[in-house]
Parts: sequence; structure tokens; C-alpha cells
Amino acid sequence: MNRDLAYEMFSAQELKTRVAEIGRQLTEEYQGKAPVLLCIMKGSLVFTADLMREINLPCTLESITLSSYRAMATRPGELTMTKPFDVDVTGQDVIVVEDILDTGKTLSYVMELLKAQSPASLKLVVLLDKPSRREAQVEADIVGFTIPDAFVVGYGLDYDQKYRNLPCIGVLKPSVYSSQPEA
Ligand code: 5GP
Repeated sequence: MNRDLAYEMFSAQELKTRVAEIGRQLTEEYQGKAPVLLCIMKGSLVFTADLMREINLPCTLESITLSSYRAMATRPGELTMTKPFDVDVTGQDVIVVEDILDTGKTLSYVMELLKAQSPASLKLVVLLDKPSRREAQVEADIVGFTIPDAFVVGYGLDYDQKYRNLPCIGVLKPSVYSSQPEA
């Protein structure tokens, strides 16, 4: 285990098993369709890459890049769109793939923008859900794991752009970020 982790929440094997289950579920639900997977960068890159290989259907891939955390903090900051929202999903079956649903502000914003484009259908898949922190009204159609209020890293999730490449998901030791100055 990485020495900056206080503990591992989900092992690489547990993640693989759950992602495969979600892939099978989506394969059944979208029979006869060719959905577009919308990856919310950067946190959902690893989840999307694994999930799409568990979906046994013709599908396409789009991405948007958002950021809601200040580099040095584990508390949400201003939501910023770091690249233009340049996807057009009109008339398509859209599966939004996100790493984690926390306050819900990011996803409620994204889902409204997508709904305005009149997709044929719109589904939200999140790997992790922290329902105790919800502020905006948004619910995922599929949740990988429901977790308590802890700041997690790994499997695409970062702290200060690091730890995305950990194969597991874990909780950082408080000492890793308590010494960082607030932005
Ligand atoms: P929300 O808008 O739901 O508060 O935040 C969603 C985004 O915040 C996620 O896409 C993710 O980038 C970030 N986030 C929320 N909780 C965590 C966490 O525990 N760990 C990490 N690394 N990012 C988080």
C-alpha cells in the first residue's frame, strides 16, 4: 500500500469486480442501442477506461474537463470549466461517467447543460457516492459504492494532481495535507 494512505477503502480487485458488474448491467439496459459515454475529466478517466471495456455494445466516447477543487485543499472550491463545453449529445443515449458524487454541485450543473441539448436518454453512473455531503439535488442511476464522508484518492482521484495512478482507492493520512497552506 502507498505509504501516504491511512487505509485502503477498495482494493484493485474489488474495483475490478464492481466495474465489471456495472458494465454487465449497462450492456443489458442498452441492448440495441449505441450509447455515448461522457467521461468527466480528469477524475473519471480511469473508471471510464475500465468501464467501457466491460460494455459489450457499440459505444462512443466523449469527455469534458471540469475542476471543483483548489489544488491545495480538500474542501470544494469554485467550479471551473477548464475547457469549453463542446459536446453535442442531441438525440443520443448518454451515459455520464463520474468518479464521485459529493455535494452534487458539479453534476447538477453538467446534467442541466446536457438536458438542454435534448438527448434521447440521459443516465448518470458514479463510482463513489458520498450522500452525507449532498447540497444540490442530483441522484445517480448507478452507484459503484456508497462511502462515508472521507477524502479519497486513487483510481483516477487526486489530491493536488497526485495519486491518480494508485490501483486502489484509499484515504490519505491527514499529515499529507494538513501541512499544505490553504489556497
Ligand atoms: P461535487 O460537485 O459533487 O461536490 O464534487 C465532485 C468532484 O469533486 C468530483 O468529481 C471530484 O473531482 C471532487 N471530489 C469530491 N470528493 C472527493 C474526494 O473524496 N476525493 C477526491 N480526490 N476528489 C473529490
